Amino acid sequence: MIDLRAVTKVYPDGHVALREVSLHIERGTTVALLGPSGCGKTTTLKLINRLVSPTSGEVWVDGRDVRRSDAHRSAVVALRRSIGYVVQEAGLFPHLTAQQNVEIVPRLLDWPEARRSDRAKELFSLLGLDLALHGPRYPAELSGGQRQRVGLARAIAADPPIVLMDEPFGALDPLTRRRLQLEFKAINARLRKTVVLVTHDVEEAFLLADRVAVLADGVLAQVGTPEEIRRAPVSEFVASFLGLLGDL
Ligand code: ADP
Ligand code: MG
Repeated sequence: MIDLRAVTKVYPDGHVALREVSLHIERGTTVALLGPSGCGKTTTLKLINRLVSPTSGEVWVDGRDVRRSDAHRSAVVALRRSIGYVVQEAGLFPHLTAQQNVEIVPRLLDWPEARRSDRAKELFSLLGLDLALHGPRYPAELSGGQRQRVGLARAIAADPPIVLMDEPFGALDPLTRRRLQLEFKAINARLRKTVVLVTHDVEEAFLLADRVAVLADGVLAQVGTPEEIRRAPVSEFVASFLGLLGDL
């Protein structure tokens, strides 16, 4: 479904954010990109929806080289619409209500109003929100947890096969975070999206992901199931990042 092939990203200031990263993500699986701040997680995510272009290497999404879409603006738009994106801190548009935020992509796709509001209603209830109560509120009038729920609803509004999530639960208190993580896990067990989840939280990665890709300073240190990584971390970096060093 998603294939990074020896991707290197050098930012214009010369900073090498990713070095020869190769990663294959199967359809319908959840992969966590795990690593400390600055290791290249967000850059990897943005390569997939083409917000960042690789310096070398290739990014394939659903059988297509995403660079090919560059020549056609409509192809970039189509790519982005097939990918839901939950940005850090939810990233809601502050001047739009919760419902308007959720309906952004359906509106771009020219869904008639009745279909849009039916979908909003369905998503609000899926995510434990009340459309009549929370729909008319602006992001500033919602709690952090509610904002993240709206951000999730917005990302899956048009039912994209792929969902990219950048630290989606990062800004929440521990209780709300755990509740939302478990809800997301239950929801996605049903929806079966291909999910790429960025996190620096080991527990979150192990709880939610089928496979975990550990990044260290722009290099892919290890990829495997949570069990594989827990059982056999390939390096001291991975072991210490997982907090397992004491157990070895
Ligand atoms: P993470 O999401 O893992 O915290 P990022 O992918 O955001 O890391 O960034 C990886 C590295 O690339 C960091 O050192 C960051 O400072 C650098 N970086 C990110 N964006 C840019 C940019 N636009 N220009 C230069 N350096 C950048
Ligand atoms: Mg980041």
